[in-house]
Amino acid sequence: MDVQEFREFGKAAVDYIADYFETIRDRPVLSSVKPGYLGELLPKEAPQTGESWQDVLQDVDRIIMPGLTHWQSPRFHAYYPTANSFPSVIGEMLSAGFGCVGLSWIASPAYTELEVVMMNWLGKLLNLPEEFLNCSEGPGGGIIQGSASEVTFIGLLAAKEKKVKDLMEANPALKETDIRGKLVAYSSDQSNSSVEKAGLLGSVPMKLLPANESGQLTAETLLEAIRQDKEQGLIPCYLVTSLGTTPTCAFDDLLELGPLCNREGIWLHVDAAYAGTAFVCPEYRYLMKGVELADSFNFNPHKWMLVNFDCSAMWVKNAKYLVEAFNVQRIYLKDNHNGLAPEYRHWQISLGRRFRALKLWFVLKIYGVEGIQKHVRGQIRLAKQFECLVLQDGRFEVCTSSMGLVTFRLKGDNDLTERLLEKLDQRKRIFVIAGHFGGKLVIRFAICSRLTNGDDVDLSWAEIKSQADGIVPMADLREEMKVKRSIGSFELTDTAREKIRCEKSK
Ligand SMILES: *Cc1c(COP(=O)(O)O)cnc(C)c1O
Repeated sequence: MDVQEFREFGKAAVDYIADYFETIRDRPVLSSVKPGYLGELLPKEAPQTGESWQDVLQDVDRIIMPGLTHWQSPRFHAYYPTANSFPSVIGEMLSAGFGCVGLSWIASPAYTELEVVMMNWLGKLLNLPEEFLNCSEGPGGGIIQGSASEVTFIGLLAAKEKKVKDLMEANPALKETDIRGKLVAYSSDQSNSSVEKAGLLGSVPMKLLPANESGQLTAETLLEAIRQDKEQGLIPCYLVTSLGTTPTCAFDDLLELGPLCNREGIWLHVDAAYAGTAFVCPEYRYLMKGVELADSFNFNPHKWMLVNFDCSAMWVKNAKYLVEAFNVQRIYLKDNHNGLAPEYRHWQISLGRRFRALKLWFVLKIYGVEGIQKHVRGQIRLAKQFECLVLQDGRFEVCTSSMGLVTFRLKGDNDLTERLLEKLDQRKRIFVIAGHFGGKLVIRFAICSRLTNGDDVDLSWAEIKSQADGIVPMADLREEMKVKRSIGSFELTDTAREKIRCEKSK
């Protein structure tokens, strides 16, 4: 393919993406293909001679598009958002076009330097304590990693090495192997699956302690676990807290857990993968009080901050611990810029580095702080709107509501909610997933796509309601009317009533 063809292919691809976004609202969110569908549509071998780009684009439309789940559809409400924006898409494209690998400063000075500046911008945007920032005097700093899972694992490795080193320094008679075999780590049973995985990968038992009825890990529970483990000769070294748990977006209390970790010499990691973006808005920062007690902090701009996957922001209070855990020198990696910029390869698992800072820069520059705040506040408002709709229907109960996530269920047996989920899955018009809260089956409804608006939320709710009609008998519908009368606005139309209730809760 020559440059001229690249120009044509590239422009056609951008048009294809633009068309996709213009039609995405009308597509069923879930795909209808059956497992194995794609193998039947493609030849068994790679083509002997090359084909035209027009053929390729046609194949995308014929073979790939039907097998997509439309994550950016305004009626995709599963998991948490996976961010996407036009500035970010272009950032990805340019980064691919430059084709560099930033394995050291000299391997592409702009790669490292833009990342340093972006992590400062981002840290200030969240109002993180100064000591986490690259621009602070101390040993703290920020880096872009691929995922929150990776960050939790990296934190664990650093915490482990730090603990081994600290104990051996304090007591030279100790054997390294004895220490390593006794390390334990903690998190709550509400933390993301990747936290448990980090323990498996890092060969440190990750104890998932029971959260309280609000989904938070309490200091009391942690203290008791530490006490029992120490009694057995074990060595606590790492705690993963969540600001915005995956099941219900609950927030652990750092002011409560932090002092305990600091006192016990336990590395405190804060996983704010989804909800961290909300700290761009000052009104939500009370939820991260105590963050200054943490050793590492992470959130995913690729979740809620309009930057395409992958872009996971990690800050550490002392980067020395990462470098000590990961530094390997080779002659071909020698670089003579005298430590004026971080050598990020020592802060991460792989050697090569993508230019992720570019798309982050595009998003921050084109949206501006105000644009991102507006996005966050708008999505939280839509979640509130949904909550209001559920509250007005006597057949349902809202279980939790936090940030852009509402969990709810049909009152009564889990079986009813399970049937509702099955029906919704079969119809494919909206995508929601199941969760558990307080031992009950719930439906997680998250505002995900940046395209979702108030009408989409109404439509998603109408879809849920219409499917519930087939499950909950009419007698219960009369119950619902009673509820509506008791709120005294039955003479209003549905829409007007919804509007009033939502206004109230804003
Ligand atoms: C989504 C999520 C993760 C996993 O994020 P990845 O970047 O996909 O690894 C971890 N923790 C929490 C709290 C999450 O919401």
